[in-house]
Amino acid sequence: FTIMPIYGTRPEAIKMAPIVKVLQDSPDFECVVTVTGQHREMLDQVNEIFGITPDHDLNIIQPRQTLNGVLTRTVEGLDKIFAETPPDAVVVQGDTTTSTAGAIAAFYRGIPVIHAEAGLRSFDLFSPFPEEANRKITSQITSLHLAPTSTSKENLLREAIAEQDVVVTGNTVIDALLHTVEQQLPFTDPQLEEIASSGKRVLLVTTHRRENQGEAMRGVGRALARIADAEPDLTIVLPAHRNPVVREAVLPAIEGKPNVVVTEPLAYGEFTRMLSVAHVVLTDSGGVQEEAPSLGKPVLVMRENTERPEAVTAGTVKLIGTDEERIVTEVDRLLNDDAAYREMANAVNPYGDGRAAERSLAAIAEMFGVGERIADF
Ligand code: UDP
Repeated sequence: FTIMPIYGTRPEAIKMAPIVKVLQDSPDFECVVTVTGQHREMLDQVNEIFGITPDHDLNIIQPRQTLNGVLTRTVEGLDKIFAETPPDAVVVQGDTTTSTAGAIAAFYRGIPVIHAEAGLRSFDLFSPFPEEANRKITSQITSLHLAPTSTSKENLLREAIAEQDVVVTGNTVIDALLHTVEQQLPFTDPQLEEIASSGKRVLLVTTHRRENQGEAMRGVGRALARIADAEPDLTIVLPAHRNPVVREAVLPAIEGKPNVVVTEPLAYGEFTRMLSVAHVVLTDSGGVQEEAPSLGKPVLVMRENTERPEAVTAGTVKLIGTDEERIVTEVDRLLNDDAAYREMANAVNPYGDGRAAERSLAAIAEMFGVGERIADF
C-alpha cells in the first residue's frame, strides 16, 4: 500500500518525521513524501536533520503569502499528483493550512485521510486563527484519527466521531525530541556554544502566532527589553521566526541589548539542545509547549487559551497572555522565587513516551488489514 505523508511547515515536518521513518521501515507500505513548501528553509532544515528526501515538492511559498493562496496552490498541486498516481491514503499532521488543504484535496479524490495530532481544541474558532478551524475541518473528513492524548480523543468523541476510528498514540513530537536530544548536537554558532557552557541562566523565547502579530508582539519586545535590563546576569535567546511581520514587531525594542541574543531559526537539534539548557521558556508555540515539559522546563505561554490543556493541568505550563506587564511579572517570579520555579519544573510530561509513531503505524496497518493496533498511550 502506498501512504503519502503531506506537510509544509516546520512543526509539521518535525512531528511527521517519526511517522515517515516507521512507514519507510515497514515492509507493508511504500511511503511517498509530498511537501508543499508552505515554509521553505525551516522545512528543508528539518527534512535534512531527519534524512528525509521528499518525492514531490510543490514549492508553493510566495513572499507575504495569504492563507487562501496557500490553500489553492496546495489543492491544485496535490490534485495533479493524485490524478496521476493516487496513494492508498494520505497522512496530514496538525492544523496548518497545508494540512487542511491536503485533507480536502485527498477527500475530493476519494482517498482516505489519516490525521496525526487529531482532536486538539481551544474551543474558540478564531483563536488560534486559523488553526482551530483547520483542525475541525480536517476532523470531519478524516478516516483514521491519531489523537495524542485521551483529552484529544474525548474532544473527537464529543463531535460524534466514531470511537473505533480514534487511536490514542501520544504525540510524535516526543519521539522526535527524545531521538534528537540524545544526539547532543553541537551549535554551529560559537556564541551559542559559549552560552550553553557558561552556566548562566537562559530565557529561551519564541513567538510567531498569527493572532499575536502587531501590538501584542510589540509588547513582547518591550517586555523582553525590560527583563534584559532588570536581569543583567540572564541571557535571553530569541531564535527569530522567518516571518518578517514577526521580526518587524519584536526586534526593534531589544536591538543592542548586550544580554539578548537574536538568532535565525535554529536547526531542530540546536533548538532542542538550547531547550535543555534553558532555565525558563517563554513562547506562543504549540510544539514548544509540548517539548519543554518533557525536559523539565517551566513554560510561560503568551496566549489567552490553549488547545493543549494537559500540561497546564499538570502544572508545568502557565498561560499568561501577551500583556507586557504580566510577562515581566511572571518571568520575574520564575527567576527569583525558587518554590514557584520548582513547582513548575517538577511536574510530569503528559504528551508522550516516544512510541507515538509505532502506535500510529500499527493503527494504519490495522486500517489496511495487515496488522493489529497496540495499546493506547
Ligand atoms: N523549533 C526549531 N527551531 C527554532 C524554534 C522552534 O526547530 O528556532 C521547533 C520546536 O522545537 C518545535 C517546533 O519548531 O518542535 C515548533 O514550531 P512553531 O513554534 O513554529 O510552530 P507551532 O508548534 O506553534 O505550530
